Amino acid sequence: MRTAVVVGAGIAGLAAAGALARTGWQVTLLERDDRVRAARSALILWPNGIRALRALGLGDGLDAIATPLPDMGVRRPDGHWLVQPRPTTADRAPVVVHREDLHDALVAGLGDRVDIRTGVTVDTVRARSDGRPAVGVGRTTVEADLLVGADGIDSTVRRRLAPASSVVSSGCTAWRAVIPWYRAPRLADDRPVTGETLGAGYRFVAASLGERGSAGGSSRGGIYWVATAAGAPRPEQPATQLALLRRWFADWPAPIGELLAATEPDDLVQQEVRELRPLPREYGFPAGSGGVVLIGDAAHAMPHHLGQGACLGFEDAATLRSAVRDAAPGEALREAVRAYTRLRRPRTVTIVRQTRRMSAVLQARGRLALRARDAALGTITPRLMGSASSVAAQWTPPA
Ligand SMILES: Cc1cc2nc3c(=O)[nH]c(=O)nc-3n(C[C@H](O)[C@H](O)[C@H](O)COP(=O)(O)OP(=O)(O)OC[C@H]3O[C@@H](n4cnc5c(N)ncnc54)[C@H](O)[C@@H]3O)c2cc1C
Repeated sequence: MRTAVVVGAGIAGLAAAGALARTGWQVTLLERDDRVRAARSALILWPNGIRALRALGLGDGLDAIATPLPDMGVRRPDGHWLVQPRPTTADRAPVVVHREDLHDALVAGLGDRVDIRTGVTVDTVRARSDGRPAVGVGRTTVEADLLVGADGIDSTVRRRLAPASSVVSSGCTAWRAVIPWYRAPRLADDRPVTGETLGAGYRFVAASLGERGSAGGSSRGGIYWVATAAGAPRPEQPATQLALLRRWFADWPAPIGELLAATEPDDLVQQEVRELRPLPREYGFPAGSGGVVLIGDAAHAMPHHLGQGACLGFEDAATLRSAVRDAAPGEALREAVRAYTRLRRPRTVTIVRQTRRMSAVLQARGRLALRARDAALGTITPRLMGSASSVAAQWTPPA
């Protein structure tokens, strides 16, 4: 039987492990954390991510946890529209999901054929022309025909195979929270929760997860928001960070103030936004009986401005499954590993380029740059968002 080792049980690793196992691979999933767990947060999934999950056979699980989002449009902090909301058809509409719900759906998709080992940190990678690819965990070696590096932005697998790619700061910091349903403010119908507001150096996106989970005392319903500000992470305690956020966004349109008022310091997750520069030249490295591939943030970590990181991770998993489906260990599998780079790299390069243009708009500094940024907010943003959403929507899963 063909064997695969997946390093990392984040969303990309879980999706790939399940997909390979369901197509007959014997899969071992190695996770350094002591259990498989999700961040306390939510995710917006665009049509490409949704299609990838459906192609992976996870559509039913997704339907049970996803809340469709109306077209949000984008406002300025003074309330004027930068991008007017337009009616969207169901196949172009994004959804929001709680990350814990998504993790549960992905874990359910592993079935009973994946050997999950937690508390296991991969520290070496072997990818030679002779022998099978392997990872080292302390003194133990785990071999397989296919190694999948799904170990996130600080990937050990990528550092070994694509050392020219470095992790750098994107120049901004993000704060996320899910306000549980029982503390979420009740808003009038004319003040919808869901929306995006973009100002000089700051951005705020909110989406309603509904009231699901109330019966079991779970906090998986509620309101998700993510705030982004140019600059480094704040060293202060969460309560002080929250006070700063309330000050920065004080004059922004409703319901931002109410959402920040309903947020408690323990809800807050601060994260420095980082990215890979340059992207690896290859995502697939043929070796021995098969090779090594990079998926998810290990391959193409990017700022979250277009909400595409996880969606691309699901595209990676769907593409990988299709590329290796009929490939026997040996030259056929090595060729499938090469094909994976050809199938994935151009697309991720395009989306990273769009994301970086959005970063530049958010972070321009200095008086001249500020004027340019105001102009950019008004002209570039609608174009950029329009083209980003159609690039995202255009992707179709490989047969
Ligand atoms: C503020 C913010 C908002 C975002 N919003 C969105 C959004 O709305 N939509 C969207 O599509 N994307 C979004 N993203 C991007 C998305 O979160 C990431 O792209 C995605 O979570 C990456 O998943 P991953 O599985 O590739 O990596 P990770 O989630 O980082 O998982 C990597 C796993 O590998 C494990 N690991 C690491 N090293 C080792 C090792 N040596 N041995 C064993 N295990 C190891 C880790 O413990 C972890 O479990 C956002 C990102 C940010 C920062």
